[in-house]
Amino acid sequence: MAQFINSKEALVTEAIDGVLRTARGRLARLDGFPHIKVVVRTDWDKSKVALVSGGGSGHEPAHVGYVGKGMLTAAVCGDVFASPSVDAVLAGILAVSGPAGCLLIVKNYTGDRLNFGLAAERARAFGIKVSMVIVDDDIALPDLPQARGVAGTLFVHKIAGALAESGADLDTVNAAAKQVIDQVASIGMSLDTCTVPGSPKEDRIKAGKAELGLGIHGESGVELVDFTGAYAAMKTVLERLKPHARSGDKVALLNNLGGATPLEMSVLAEELANSDTIGEIRYLIGPAPMMTSLDMRGFSVSILPVSDAELALLQSPVPLPDWPGCSEINTPELLPIPDGLTPIKPIPSGHPATAAFVAQCCDVFIAAETDLNALDAQSGDGDTGSTLAGAARALKAAMDQLPLADATQLYRAIGLELSQSMGGSSGVLLAIFFSATGDAASSGLSHVEALKVGLARVQEVGGAQPGDRTMIDAMTPALATLPEGFAAAAKAARKGADHTASIVHAKAGRASYISEDRLIGHNDPGAEAVARLFESLA
Ligand code: ADP
Ligand code: MG
Repeated sequence: MAQFINSKEALVTEAIDGVLRTARGRLARLDGFPHIKVVVRTDWDKSKVALVSGGGSGHEPAHVGYVGKGMLTAAVCGDVFASPSVDAVLAGILAVSGPAGCLLIVKNYTGDRLNFGLAAERARAFGIKVSMVIVDDDIALPDLPQARGVAGTLFVHKIAGALAESGADLDTVNAAAKQVIDQVASIGMSLDTCTVPGSPKEDRIKAGKAELGLGIHGESGVELVDFTGAYAAMKTVLERLKPHARSGDKVALLNNLGGATPLEMSVLAEELANSDTIGEIRYLIGPAPMMTSLDMRGFSVSILPVSDAELALLQSPVPLPDWPGCSEINTPELLPIPDGLTPIKPIPSGHPATAAFVAQCCDVFIAAETDLNALDAQSGDGDTGSTLAGAARALKAAMDQLPLADATQLYRAIGLELSQSMGGSSGVLLAIFFSATGDAASSGLSHVEALKVGLARVQEVGGAQPGDRTMIDAMTPALATLPEGFAAAAKAARKGADHTASIVHAKAGRASYISEDRLIGHNDPGAEAVARLFESLA
């Protein structure tokens, strides 16, 4: 799969600079590219405990996205899925550590443990106070002595970060981080593998299946499960987390592994909020991409039981756009539908001549259904005839509900009927036409003048002008000649409709997406409908 990168080698350094471009001076990097890829806070005076984290890249926005006031002091980045070197970690530690010391937050992978561990040793030799915690929140592999570190690491970043920012000493920050690590549990599910730059994509997960318990480096899941939808997916994940979740108020962190859409993530959030698999989930962080695995189409859930103090630390605001915040899960608030949607129905009244006239108009559209569909098939999606005929049938069926004796009210009532019964562009446009005509007629204009106001409104709302290959090309000349009678109007409408067959640059409606050679020689269906109507009336 093609990716918007230049080379595997330059990927991470270019991306880091790309982030710094818009960090508004909040962040800087050490001048050590390509080997030393360290991003630091610029507002840092070393007076408090420094927090250094990092690891392989490919988990963005982790970890650079969490460097800033109240979270990390520095992020040390390796290449994609590769641990940074000892020198890189040491550079990070030395750049930000002052007398208060430094806490290293490391995800449990051998490479990271070793490189961060040795860097810590070397930093201590410089007399720097360094503590290191290892996050091992993944519960996918129950019998693994060394569980992996995944998205639960974010809890450590936030809680330790808020504590350090408040001025707590290294031992306190270290203890709080360890407490979180002790309690947090995570597991992920994915519908597809990720695309590692420079490597062919592995096509491991077949349609209808999902991997449960995968790692964030493309490691395959522990189990291949049937995928039947978001509800079951979330239920499975929460059932796995349940034995690890202690009682008490809990915070869930819903992480996008990179390739799920925001829409899917919101559905998963809804399922999480609705589920009672694990009780007492009162707060949610996300859904958001926080600890991703490149473009993996999956999600992970991390659960942390929290004390009041931890909750306050999680909820303390940070100026980091990549931190989604920790919100209380609420019941969706419902407001009543505004009144205007149930329109006031006009009082029906009988008028045989008008009824016959309206019926005649409707019959024109019903008879033209097939022809107009065929024309729309040339320039659109083949449904103008069905849309107009459907509306005509609905109008005929509603005839005894119409205020036939009151012409002014009748326009509005037809507009209302059309807005309820017609879909498609032609339907809405005609509904607008009749509603606007009705308003104009009620303000005292003559029928023809009122109809012209209706037409003007259609142009205003629809954005089409004469010559754009729409019904307007027939309506405009028809209304202009209507004072001379239906025969003249019919002639003018026909001329306008036939002219549309020579307009190959449609500027409105679906026809504007169709190539010239498909449009030439075919009348616009909307214009043709108008011409047929006036021809019948003539
Ligand atoms: P769609 O299927 O594209 O929603 P219909 O098939 O119901 O629309 O109607 C297509 C007709 O609508 C066109 O033949 C054209 O006459 C008319 N039309 C489309 N867009 C406009 C517009 N902006 N202004 C006026 N008429 C339009
Ligand atoms: Mg259509």
